[in-house]
Amino acid sequence: MEYKEPHYPQIEVDLDKLEDNLRALKSRMDASGIQLAGVVKGFNGLPWAARIYEKAGYSSIASSRLEQLHHLRMNGIAVPLMLIRIPMLSEVEETARWTDISLHSEPAVLRAMEQAVKAAAGKRRHKVILMVDLGDLREGFWDQDELVQTALEVEREMPHLELAGVGTNLGCYGTVQATPEKMNQLVAAAERVEAAIGRKLDIISGGASSSIHMVLDGTMPPRINHLRVGEGILFGRIWGCDMDFMHKHIFTLRAEVIESKVKPSYPVGELSVDAFGRTRTYVDRGRRRRALLAMGRVDYGECEDLIPREPGVKILGASSDHTIVDVQNTAHPVRVGDILEFDLCYATMVYLTSSRSVSVTFKTERG
Ligand SMILES: *Cc1c(COP(=O)(O)O)cnc(C)c1O
Repeated sequence: MEYKEPHYPQIEVDLDKLEDNLRALKSRMDASGIQLAGVVKGFNGLPWAARIYEKAGYSSIASSRLEQLHHLRMNGIAVPLMLIRIPMLSEVEETARWTDISLHSEPAVLRAMEQAVKAAAGKRRHKVILMVDLGDLREGFWDQDELVQTALEVEREMPHLELAGVGTNLGCYGTVQATPEKMNQLVAAAERVEAAIGRKLDIISGGASSSIHMVLDGTMPPRINHLRVGEGILFGRIWGCDMDFMHKHIFTLRAEVIESKVKPSYPVGELSVDAFGRTRTYVDRGRRRRALLAMGRVDYGECEDLIPREPGVKILGASSDHTIVDVQNTAHPVRVGDILEFDLCYATMVYLTSSRSVSVTFKTERG
């Protein structure tokens, strides 16, 4: 079904604020000799927003999803594209075809990549970064002898791959913090690789947004020269690091009120489980005005993650397609047909920008 644009629920992306944030971070990173890969997976790699990364001079655009990178290439994005989830063996051909650089931790995948790039005759060498697991326990070599052996194999026996560097990822699974100590461990691993292959690596990629704070406070070891940044740019903050030089409200979620009535706040009858099979607790606050919004957990995940912009709006709960809010204490009465606005967090943004029911609109006053 084709919808007339825009409809609700709707996400508005302020491209001017996004550009400001991109430039503000880039100038600080440039001053420390750090290149940035702009990670666009947080908003489903939408080309209108990705284009701003290119405009702001980002040296590459990155995503964990190959289909997003493919879509960007088809939509005219010309900067190098980086695949930041290690590729499936079953997608090495497309990785070779649509991306310029990828992250790796499996020798078998690297060997398949070598064959795939070779088969895509005429293509220039594909760059690879070998990932080192420093304790967060997601992707990366744990055994550093295996890291060095693999680096040697790429360097000597895979002429269609270019060993561009090493990198690490922290915080995503194990919640392990990025610290100068972890960065020094990464540099040490890089230097073992360099000693084995007899040359310097171009890239030492010190992680994601969770590594920015070290650049800002001057504790990043000088040899770290690359970061892959998503969330920090989109929200102007990351856990433990509020960046006062960035905008906070790039994304606005708008949803439409489909019912507004005064009702009891405690369910009436014998209680069992909710739409997702969970038992719930409710607080009896007497009769209050509540509004129903035409969006639900299918669109955004967990309703506790939505942040109402209007004072007095309080999230009560949600099912697949409905969100229930308390609007007893709003400045103006909330009526059916009204639109309520919300701020997002990373998780709700990922879901909302991937939902087919949500329209995404872009705001800019620049050319
Ligand atoms: C998602 C991801 C990033 C970006 O993370 P942010 O926290 O959004 O900056 C960087 N590197 C890898 C490998 C990732 O998967």
